[in-house]
Amino acid sequence: MKKLLPATVAALLTILSCSKADNTPRLVIITLDGLRWQELYSGADESLMGSNKYWRETPAERREALMPFIWQYVPEHGYMIGNRSKESYMQVSNTMNFSYPGYSEMFCGWADDERITSNNPVPNPNVSVLEVAWKDPRYNGSLSMYSSWESVRYAVNSERAGFPASSAHEPSFTNTYVTRMLEDMDAATPGEGFGYSERLDLITYGMAMETLRESHPKVFYVAFGDTDEFAHEGQYDNYLEAAHWTDRFIGRIVEYCESDPFYKGKTTYLITCDHGRGVGPEYTDHGEKTARSGETWFMAFGKDVPVLGETSGNGPFYTRQFAATIADILDVDFTPGNGVKSAPIDPEYSEND
Ligand SMILES: [Zn+2]
Repeated sequence: MKKLLPATVAALLTILSCSKADNTPRLVIITLDGLRWQELYSGADESLMGSNKYWRETPAERREALMPFIWQYVPEHGYMIGNRSKESYMQVSNTMNFSYPGYSEMFCGWADDERITSNNPVPNPNVSVLEVAWKDPRYNGSLSMYSSWESVRYAVNSERAGFPASSAHEPSFTNTYVTRMLEDMDAATPGEGFGYSERLDLITYGMAMETLRESHPKVFYVAFGDTDEFAHEGQYDNYLEAAHWTDRFIGRIVEYCESDPFYKGKTTYLITCDHGRGVGPEYTDHGEKTARSGETWFMAFGKDVPVLGETSGNGPFYTRQFAATIADILDVDFTPGNGVKSAPIDPEYSEND
């Protein structure tokens, strides 16, 4: 009888807390560094692949073999933009076409091409929409992020904002046996994985999952990086593997959230990339000198997202609209540093209308 008591109290507390349900929006943001729209929408490129593991006859079969969670789940729970072969257009506004300017544009809402000109881990002078959300009492204490690459948290300036962040080989801000194990695995990885400034996505994934389970942030950002690393190394097959496993990680995160009453049915998910890559053998590169490497893509699904599947004949959309889209979902007032507000992404917008 005595042993049952704590369980009974816990059950009562659960009922009480449910009766005063907190309906503040929940938002999960995921980015894939430098994953091209070409692979997302058409799967493996026959001219670049060594192994035929992800080769199928049609683009629809190839993309589903490469990223099965996204293709089986997202079109039925939201929408996707950026498939240029279906005349859906998205791109960065900055002229750099590399990572820090991409993340800065994404979260600060404009292309600050005067000041944001390198990938160095220096604090962003611009204020991100995450910093604004953190200062809102509804989200303060309930917003955090993980990134594989160290400069992502500088681009959103987590330090000035004050929200928990862990990047590259920094320890997790959630302290459990699982996160301590992941920190050991990260430290024991030969060559530090991708070097001092970037840990492997599988470590980032594990820490992110444990934080979701332990501390239930209302706003949560996970920035994966393996895709860009393998592409730069000219390892196209490993680039495909990275896309495939990131798809699995995303699937597990969504599966977890939709099984937890804190997130289930209350969560919006946004996924995008920081830049594109060159075409054909130029896939290894991106930047000002690499043609078409400013081409990006975007998807949204979950709470309050219109179910339109893969969209066509729309845009052009810009990466700077990502910040406005976040502000819209979180119901916070956000004005980018240049004073110009962008419209949230509306998948039914077309400049031809
Ligand atoms: Zn890169």
